[in-house]
Amino acid sequence: MGDRMETEYGAEWLAIHRGDYQNVLLDASRRNGARILLDADVTGIEEGTGEALGKQIVLMKNKDPITADVVVGADGLWSGLREYVLGYPKPPLETGDLAYRGTFTREQLKAFKNERVNEIMEAANVQVWLGSNRHAVFYPLRDKTEYNLVLLVADDLPPGMRTAQGNLEEMAANFEGWDPSLDLIISCLKSALKWKLLHFQELDKWTKGTVALLGDASHPTLPYQGQGAAMAVEDGAILGLLLSKLQTSGISSDSKERYAQLTDVLRLYEDLRKKRTEVNVAGAVDTRHYYHLSDGEEQVQRDQELAELPASNWEGPCNFNWGDAPYQKSLLGFDSLADAERNFDAWIRRRREGGLQKDIRL
Ligand SMILES: Cc1cc2nc3c(=O)[nH]c(=O)nc-3n(C[C@H](O)[C@H](O)[C@H](O)COP(=O)(O)OP(=O)(O)OC[C@H]3O[C@@H](n4cnc5c(N)ncnc54)[C@H](O)[C@@H]3O)c2cc1C
Repeated sequence: MGDRMETEYGAEWLAIHRGDYQNVLLDASRRNGARILLDADVTGIEEGTGEALGKQIVLMKNKDPITADVVVGADGLWSGLREYVLGYPKPPLETGDLAYRGTFTREQLKAFKNERVNEIMEAANVQVWLGSNRHAVFYPLRDKTEYNLVLLVADDLPPGMRTAQGNLEEMAANFEGWDPSLDLIISCLKSALKWKLLHFQELDKWTKGTVALLGDASHPTLPYQGQGAAMAVEDGAILGLLLSKLQTSGISSDSKERYAQLTDVLRLYEDLRKKRTEVNVAGAVDTRHYYHLSDGEEQVQRDQELAELPASNWEGPCNFNWGDAPYQKSLLGFDSLADAERNFDAWIRRRREGGLQKDIRL
């Protein structure tokens, strides 16, 4: 599906263009009979009454309302459903950084006829340039026919401003004097949109009854572990698994009991996911510190540690998250689906044995 690559430390990873991945999701949704509504701006949720007791009614601009057993708010960083779930507004916090980003073609890079740029272009791994309060990340996409460049610098946008058009000279000046090949690569970017990076340490909760949050709505993060969308997809996989297991285990036809079962399963989803995404969000903050060290003793130690990391088969720990084998295994090598299956089976056993509270009211 994506491009298989080697990291600097020998481990393989997969990268896929986000447009390609959206098509994978779209095709899978269509194959599974999803009804997709475009231009459907959700304006609110109401709890059903009468025949719709125990259900949620999703209200939309220019569309008829939809009645559902479960509503998932995958509505991103500025989620409107987050306030509904929490019961109070919770805007994301500034991280202190902003991103410039863009993709360009192999031809653009080839045109430089520069030996070092060609070498970087042919490397199958992620290239990262580190410096005081900023870094640059570059990697190939679509079988090295396209490349992604992300420049992370100190946020100079006013508080509350989400994006702003910067200028190309100012963007490039952030990396002046670092590496002539990076200057050439940066010159491929034709837009300098500044994108403020925001996050939460954690949310109090992700669910309210049968409404759940997913993805950036519940765990936006600095993108320094490359895991934001990956964690959103993992959320979806776990939620899908739990709901389908509930369905096959015999979901109740009684509206009150059904609501209680679904509420419990969504809480189980929250418990399983929150502990993983919080590790990811905190890890990205640690990576920011490690990447953005100013010149000094700590930076010298970091550079030495990086220089000493073996090129392959590294199994040991490291202060650098991406080079810390046990940490990476726990983050990327964890079988979330098997874990969710186990936890669902334990949950349903407890429920059948009557060990779960049944005091959830509609
Ligand atoms: C610079 C940068 C680099 C990144 N790099 C990586 C990476 O390498 N790997 C990785 O895994 N992640 C990466 N991420 C993170 C990734 O982009 C996000 O985590 C991911 O897009 C979150 O997906 P989402 O579906 O939760 O939210 P979004 O992608 O924000 O989607 C939310 C959707 O909800 C819609 N919506 C919002 N409100 C409403 C409403 N009221 N009604 C209807 N629809 C609504 C929006 O239009 C949008 O389509 C990066 C992020 C940044 C900023």
